[in-house]
Amino acid sequence: MEVIELENHLRTLATLEENDSPVISCYLDLSNGLAGCRGLLSIRLLTLRKLLPQHQTEDFDQAAARIHAYLGAPLPPRTRGLALFSRGGALPFWLALEFEVALPTWISAGSSPNIYHLVELKDNYDRYAILLMTETSARIIGVNLGSVTEQLWRARPELRPRVGHDWSRDHFQNHRRERTRQFLHDQIRILDRVVSAGGYGHIILAGNSRMIAAVRKEMPKRLAAMLVDAVPAAATDQVNDIVSSTLLSFLEHEEMESQALAEKLITQIRTHGLAVAGTRATLEAIRVGQADILVLVKSYDPGAGWECRNCGKLELELPPPAACPACHAPHIREFDIRGELVRLAERHQVICEVVEHNDILMSLGGVGCLLRYYAPANYWSSAA
Ligand SMILES: [Zn+2]
Repeated sequence: MEVIELENHLRTLATLEENDSPVISCYLDLSNGLAGCRGLLSIRLLTLRKLLPQHQTEDFDQAAARIHAYLGAPLPPRTRGLALFSRGGALPFWLALEFEVALPTWISAGSSPNIYHLVELKDNYDRYAILLMTETSARIIGVNLGSVTEQLWRARPELRPRVGHDWSRDHFQNHRRERTRQFLHDQIRILDRVVSAGGYGHIILAGNSRMIAAVRKEMPKRLAAMLVDAVPAAATDQVNDIVSSTLLSFLEHEEMESQALAEKLITQIRTHGLAVAGTRATLEAIRVGQADILVLVKSYDPGAGWECRNCGKLELELPPPAACPACHAPHIREFDIRGELVRLAERHQVICEVVEHNDILMSLGGVGCLLRYYAPANYWSSAA
């Protein structure tokens, strides 16, 4: 799947109109095959069913049956992660997304799809292009969400050993150098085209050190700025092996970018600048359209919250009451706080960044956002 398709699906999921039927969000890690997660899936679905009010169980059963039916059919062999969203009832909804990278096994039910793990996946993987350069060939590989989606291959033009009466050895050597240089230039030009046409923001070089050095030297500044790393590889290496070895360095690079944003957020908090931290302040900033970039620590998971559908009262710490304590309406909507944050972020086109670890951000509540503009002073004091 391409990042752009995932973005479309995220929008669909984040804007799905809620009704009284629960949505099952089912993420499965297929690293050990489907058999490895069937047991846990059954247990989770049984548990979730018990937690639902009686009138929702029939719709829930329909949604669960859809998931079981889907998992009964064969999956593409390279699938390592699944994200399934299922709702039964009068307005059924179904979306199955297959990935070549693993997702954590995580299953829940709520009034809206929980897109957190998709958002994290998108933040981690994004897309990049690999230029594999050796003396004998060049290949350009597009990687989207951890899987190969585009291959543009160019073989090096044959160098005929025409050392004869009209070609001196020196002449031949010069000719070969010139051909190599020309070949390199052509590949860089092609890379430039592929990268701009495909909207790739990052490049990883692969090959032997001599060719990597030559490419680095010849790259225009625009491309050099997108360079993430260079990894050793041979022309005979399998594409999948090359992709696996570049993925690791790409993930490290993405994490560095996320950390830089977390640092920026902390600096803004420290200097009383354009940022807020803590669950409530962040949620409110996103709700009013003030948030620019949402930053979450990976271990941030504050549990469930609720709001009154009638008066909008929001509660992030206390368990849900039968009726709203403010307006007495019985229309309480429960939600997973982390899922709700990223769902609202998606709806408001706020970029989400997930950082692996950050102790300072964790001490500020594990979540925060950079703001587009200043807001009333009350946001500053309400860090959760
Ligand atoms: Zn209320």
